[in-house]
Amino acid sequence: MKNQTIETIDKQYVWHPFTQMKEWQEESQLVITGGEGVRLCDENGNWYYDGNSSMWVNLHGHRKKELDDAIIHQLTSIAHSTFLGLSSPPAALLAKELISIVPEGLSRVFYSDSGSEAVEIALKMAFQYWQQREKPVPTKTMFLHLVNSYHGDTIGSVSVGGIDLFHSTYHPLLFPTISVPCPYCYRCPFECEPNSCKMECLESLTNVIKKEHERIAAFIIEPLAMGAAGMITFPDRYLTKVRELCNTYNILLIADEVATGFGRTGKMFACDHEEISPDIMTVAKGLTGGYLPLAATITTEEIFNAFLGDASESKTFFHGHSYTGNQLACAVARANLELFQKDQIIPALCEKVTLIESELKWFYTLSHVGDIRQIGMMVGIELVKNPDSRQPYLPEDGVIKSVILEAQQRGMITRPLGNVIVFLPPLSSTLKELHEMLNILFESITSVTRD
Ligand SMILES: *Cc1c(COP(=O)(O)O)cnc(C)c1O
Repeated sequence: MKNQTIETIDKQYVWHPFTQMKEWQEESQLVITGGEGVRLCDENGNWYYDGNSSMWVNLHGHRKKELDDAIIHQLTSIAHSTFLGLSSPPAALLAKELISIVPEGLSRVFYSDSGSEAVEIALKMAFQYWQQREKPVPTKTMFLHLVNSYHGDTIGSVSVGGIDLFHSTYHPLLFPTISVPCPYCYRCPFECEPNSCKMECLESLTNVIKKEHERIAAFIIEPLAMGAAGMITFPDRYLTKVRELCNTYNILLIADEVATGFGRTGKMFACDHEEISPDIMTVAKGLTGGYLPLAATITTEEIFNAFLGDASESKTFFHGHSYTGNQLACAVARANLELFQKDQIIPALCEKVTLIESELKWFYTLSHVGDIRQIGMMVGIELVKNPDSRQPYLPEDGVIKSVILEAQQRGMITRPLGNVIVFLPPLSSTLKELHEMLNILFESITSVTRD
């Protein structure tokens, strides 16, 4: 009998996330067995650049000594103990360290295991806050969000999501929300061009808020860049304006920094670019440097205080998970934050971001590159069938898939978002590595879309 390979075992027993399993089973698949720095190694010994940071989580590369050591060291004490009714050094110290780097005003950390959960928690907290603060506002029960937004895959986070392809199937299960068009300038929902734009998107947002604010508990937003929508980047000051509107109309602002947090946008948090503070912030992906699942919902003392009371008042936040505050995950997250100091990650990004920006200019010479969006180490390249009409490719054209496969053959792994090629390298990538990765991307697009 033929020896079973990992690939055949996988195809027999596993169901993969966001994957059409019919295609998965029909096509050949990579099995990753190792990694080193910004590269991944497959079972045949081939090396690939990790061009999307293992789905946007990896910051310092693979097998980073300090992160490996933090986990090994923590294992000499304990891997996990419950956080329900007990504390632990890694979780308590990490909370203190997080509060020292997040935007001003945020002062309390609630742990969970994934970005989706961090968002669920933020929604439940915001809802409950208005019900039980000193002067309750019981009408504030709705959430406002942008069309095309993505906040995770659990039912609550899907309710505030707006990507039809992922979300429309579940529509009957979702709670009602209020949504407004997002500032997607390349395909402006108000059909404006840069020279005719009067920020109609902000005007429509303002009108909705004026009309609905008494019902709105919170506005949840991906600050500065809507990742899963295809790296849609906000116009300057849009976020500032959102903060002002929320202040004026008494709406909590939830900044979902799950993708943008921990240096991804060139600053520690996306909110730092416009120096705004949300009322609630969610973080996950980069929190452990890409090592272990850990998330946090971080909030103000004002919100925290609304949950204080005698046990009989039932003001407790009734939420928690078996692995809340996992000690191994918190230990590696602490080591991650320490690396930001020690390796001076944020200052070192400046040069890298500039290099990416200047090399991306060449991509506009390719006839099927419609739009390039970049903020920091987060890039989306939108390919179009017809650049004049901006007509998108259809999945059956197979072009996007071919570009991704071509890149893989040339030594880089990434994953598209619709017609957008994602380039999200680990923050630790050197200038030379970034140059090589962009070269692979350029060659891959050229070879597939050459007319
Ligand atoms: C990835 C992501 C999430 C979901 O995080 P998971 O850890 O995958 O559940 C939520 N919000 C944003 C903005 C994300 O990019």
